[in-house]
Amino acid sequence: RNIGIMAHIDAGKTTTTERMLFYSGYINKMGDIDSGNTVMDYLPTEIERGITVQSAAISFNWDNTQINLIDTPGHVDFTIEVERALRVLDGAVAIFDGSRGVEAQSRMVWLQADGHNIPRLAYINKMDKTEANFAASVDSLKRQLKANTLILQLPVFQANQFVGVIDLITMERIEWDMQVVSPNQNGRNCTIHKLTNKDKEWETSLSAKSSIIEQVCFGILLHFHMWNNVTLEKVLSWIRHGTIDRTFVPVLCGSSYKNVGIQPLLNAVVDYLPQPSDIQHPFLYLSLKSNKNLSLFRRYYDNTLLAMAFKVLHDKRLGSIIFVRVYSGTLESGRKLYNVNKGKEEKVLRLMTVYADEYKDTKVIKAGNIGVISGFQSTVTGDTLLESKQALEAATDVIPEPVFFCSVEVYSPTQEKALRHALDVLCKEDPSVRVNFDDYGSIMLSGMGELHMDVVSQRIKSEFKIDAYFGPIQVAYRECPTLQVTHKAMYSRTILDNLYEVEIAIQISPCPELSTMRDAINVQKPAYNPELSYSAALGVIQALQQGNILGYPVMGADVRILTARAKRGCPSGLITASAVKCTREALDKASCDLLEPMMQIEISTRGENLMQKILGDLAKRHAKISDISTTDNDGNMKILAEAPVSEMKGYASSLRSSTSGNADLSLHPSGYKVVTQERKLQLKRKI
Ligand code: GDP
Ligand code: MG
Repeated sequence: RNIGIMAHIDAGKTTTTERMLFYSGYINKMGDIDSGNTVMDYLPTEIERGITVQSAAISFNWDNTQINLIDTPGHVDFTIEVERALRVLDGAVAIFDGSRGVEAQSRMVWLQADGHNIPRLAYINKMDKTEANFAASVDSLKRQLKANTLILQLPVFQANQFVGVIDLITMERIEWDMQVVSPNQNGRNCTIHKLTNKDKEWETSLSAKSSIIEQVCFGILLHFHMWNNVTLEKVLSWIRHGTIDRTFVPVLCGSSYKNVGIQPLLNAVVDYLPQPSDIQHPFLYLSLKSNKNLSLFRRYYDNTLLAMAFKVLHDKRLGSIIFVRVYSGTLESGRKLYNVNKGKEEKVLRLMTVYADEYKDTKVIKAGNIGVISGFQSTVTGDTLLESKQALEAATDVIPEPVFFCSVEVYSPTQEKALRHALDVLCKEDPSVRVNFDDYGSIMLSGMGELHMDVVSQRIKSEFKIDAYFGPIQVAYRECPTLQVTHKAMYSRTILDNLYEVEIAIQISPCPELSTMRDAINVQKPAYNPELSYSAALGVIQALQQGNILGYPVMGADVRILTARAKRGCPSGLITASAVKCTREALDKASCDLLEPMMQIEISTRGENLMQKILGDLAKRHAKISDISTTDNDGNMKILAEAPVSEMKGYASSLRSSTSGNADLSLHPSGYKVVTQERKLQLKRKI
């Protein structure tokens, strides 16, 4: 589990982290809880060991599961740092002070985590304080954070002292031994009592449990009457499911300081929070500036290494160390990696995992996990690391932008699944074949050339035995802005008598260096207001998929969402729709150019007499000749030219027949060029 612990300052992040390490056996001394030291932010062991707040990630094991605690900066300074930490983790534990409930800072981090769709558990700490109020804290979660809370525990008091919790799933009362035995035994002993109708807590627990059943079974009504027959595992998996898809937030309670409730909290982390494979990091598709290539790489590198450096720290002994999250492949010690952002190779001298205060050497770090590298010279926070430069080239150069596309349909809906499977296989075999699904659910197939597309369609028909219809082959045009513009607008709409207003401001700048890349848009979300930014970014991306000139995708644009504002409770669909509108309006102002894919043409001929014919044909196809040369003494000639892809339809066969096979042709895609005004009008008429 890659999890973060988020909390308002003083809610108990440090204490809880330390207790987790203690109970999982990674440290054997707790901070001196009886010292009465008021400066507890620096627990004695924390000073001694330099752990928790200073470390970017600590690992430990619980119940055969490795848990990586990733430090989320507590102070919300809305820097990229916070965003980055949130991108690295898959789930979080939010700690609240039971006597205060939701506080300003926890609210901010919570909303940011909402923006990143991070599944969470809530832990109401400090239940030992006399002012602590579990119900009121849960209520503040509901009201102030709009959290759909799922109460899994109730606090247990004895003689006004908080001593344990009732686990509503198992209907067990867990009480901790409050005697201070010895500093390294505290909280290790607890008694578990199965509740029966003779217990005074029976009624309240039963009614709390029935509310869990209602919430959990909301989507699984079928099983409602079967609750008593279902296995514990089944219940845990339902709760886990609902936690991961953020239907609800499980709530637990405890007192970290008094050692009550830590073990059940750890169990909940294992039981309910996602493992790396459960999570599709949405940011991978939003291409944030420093990692614009990440989504791209991930598509092509299922099994080769892709990692991100999320923190660089200076260690007294080890020097500069880099915390990395591995997204795919395996990170190996002793290997060289390629830093995409720096364009440099770096050697992994040592590879480690941080257990509590100790760096332990390891040979490999697998996909989904976190590791620490020493030996790097130039890598900084946010850099993307790949297996090799070749891996990068394979993604960006060798697999160029497909320039032809066509629609594919099956005649019978029963073959739909088979078609998708076939396309999947074909894409894996040949990464230059690409499949997209448009808004209406139709499938667009794209490839490098007519022949390429022909081969693919033949294989689908003969090899996979699918009766499919392939639409006419079309050329993939693009649109790109030429002016930098800022557009701000307010959209309002009444839904069920509620007036919602959404304010969006967007800046679009032409970004030529992006225009040579595939998927080359760069969308930056506003750093504040994470709640809205995700919905707004989706809208922007949606709008960029269909430009204003002829409805082709926009490329070569740097888009920033400057403002995204709406009343609380505004449906996210409305925010997305407003962002679509605003982006369209901004594109109108940005005076877009139409771009068309070009092809580099190389022709070798035998015999000068063919030249006239060839050049004539090329001129008709709007080709620009860049070079004509004699290659040897036998009169063999070579022609280099560039022409729009759209004009090259059928060129290979036409050349063959016009030269009776006395010419060799090679074609390479050579990027996009602006379509002249005159050609634009022609195209508009054609398309
Ligand atoms: P952080 O700022 O979130 O890291 O919080 P700390 O773990 O440093 O705790 C802040 C203060 O709250 C310290 O004085 C802790 O002793 C105290 N504290 C932490 N957990 C508890 C708890 O469960 N009960 C009580 N009464 N105090 C706690
Ligand atoms: Mg702290």
